[in-house]
Amino acid sequence: MTDQYGRQIDYMRISVTDRCNLRCIYCMPEEGVEQTSHGEILTYGEIARVAKAAAGLGVTRVRLTGGEPLVRRDLGRLVSMLTALDQVEEVALTTNGVLLGEQIEELAAAGLGSVNISLDTLEREQYACVARRDELDRVLLSLEKMREYPWIQVKLNCVPLAGYNEDQWCRLAELAGERDMDVRFIEMMPLGLGEKFPLCSQETVLQRLREAFGPERPAKGKDALAGRGPAFYVTFEGFRGRVGFISALSHKFCGSCNRVRLSAEGFLKPCLQYEGGTDLRRLLRQGASEQEIAGAIRQAVWEKPACHQFEQPRGEGTEKKNMNRIGG
Ligand code: SAM
Ligand code: SF4
Repeated sequence: MTDQYGRQIDYMRISVTDRCNLRCIYCMPEEGVEQTSHGEILTYGEIARVAKAAAGLGVTRVRLTGGEPLVRRDLGRLVSMLTALDQVEEVALTTNGVLLGEQIEELAAAGLGSVNISLDTLEREQYACVARRDELDRVLLSLEKMREYPWIQVKLNCVPLAGYNEDQWCRLAELAGERDMDVRFIEMMPLGLGEKFPLCSQETVLQRLREAFGPERPAKGKDALAGRGPAFYVTFEGFRGRVGFISALSHKFCGSCNRVRLSAEGFLKPCLQYEGGTDLRRLLRQGASEQEIAGAIRQAVWEKPACHQFEQPRGEGTEKKNMNRIGG
C-alpha cells in the first residue's frame, strides 16, 4: 500500500487500551484520565478484522501498544489471532514491562516475535519519580525473564529527559554492551504532556556516550540492513548490542515513514501530529464488508500527511491527546 508521496506503508501500530498501570510524567497526568468505557474500544475480533484488511493491503508487521497493552485481559488471545493472519510476518509488543514477566509464557506461546520495553532509568527512586509508581523491580525481573525466550527480540527504549535521567543514559547504554540487545533513545515528541519538556536531542545523548565509551561506529544489523524503521544505530568498542536513536525532531524521518496507527477506539491515524484519520469503529459496527474496510484504510493511507511540523507553531488540526490515547 503506497501513499500519495510514494511511501510504502507496511507497519501498523495497534493500541489495545488507553489505560495504564504507570503515570509517566510526559505521558499521563498523575490523577489518571477519564477512562474510555469497554464498549467504546474495539473488541479483539474487531481489531483482527482491521488487521486482516490491512494485511491484505500489504501490512506485514503489527505492534501492540497502548496505554499499557498488558493491562488488557488475555492479550495472548489477540496475539494468536494476529499471528494466524497469513501476510503478517511479525507481531510485536511495546510495554512498560511491569506485567511482562507474568504474561510472557502465554504471549510467547501465541507467537509474539519481539518486545520493546520502555525503561527511562535503572534507579529506583528516579523511576518512581518519572513513572510515578514504584515498579522498577518488576520491570527488571521481566527483563531478566526474557533471557528464557532468546528467540523473542528485546529492545529497550528510553526517553532522555533533561533534569531527570541524564545520569542513566550511559548505564542504560551499558546494557547494550553487556547483552546482545538494542538500547534506543527516543526524542520526546512535543505532544500532550510531552510538550512541556525541553528537547534532549540525539546529539546531546551521543556526546555523553562518546565521553564514556569513546567514538561510536556505525552498527549493522537486521533493521539497518533492511532499512526497517526510523532508528539510526551505532555501537562502541567492546559492545555486544547496539545503541539506537529515534530522533523525530533532530533527524526527521517522515520521508521514509512506513506506519499507521489504530487507536483503541478504532480510529486510524496516519500521522502522529495530526488529529485527522478515519473512524473504522463506526464502519465495523455498521456492518461494513472487508472490502469497505480495506477501502477506508487505503484512503486514509493515501491522505497521510507528507511530514510532521513539530518545529512550527502548532496550527489547526494538531493532535491534542496524550500519548497513552494515541498509542505511542
Ligand atoms: N505503555 C507502553 C510503554 O510505555 O511502552 C506502551 C505505550 S507508551 C505511550 C509507548 C512509548 O511512547 C513509550 O516508550 C513512551 O516512553 C513513549 N512516549 C510517551 N510519550 C512520548 C512523547 N511525548 N514523546 C516520545 N515518546 C513518548
Ligand atoms: Fe503508561 Fe507507557 Fe504512558 Fe508510561 S509511557 S504512562 S507506561 S502508556
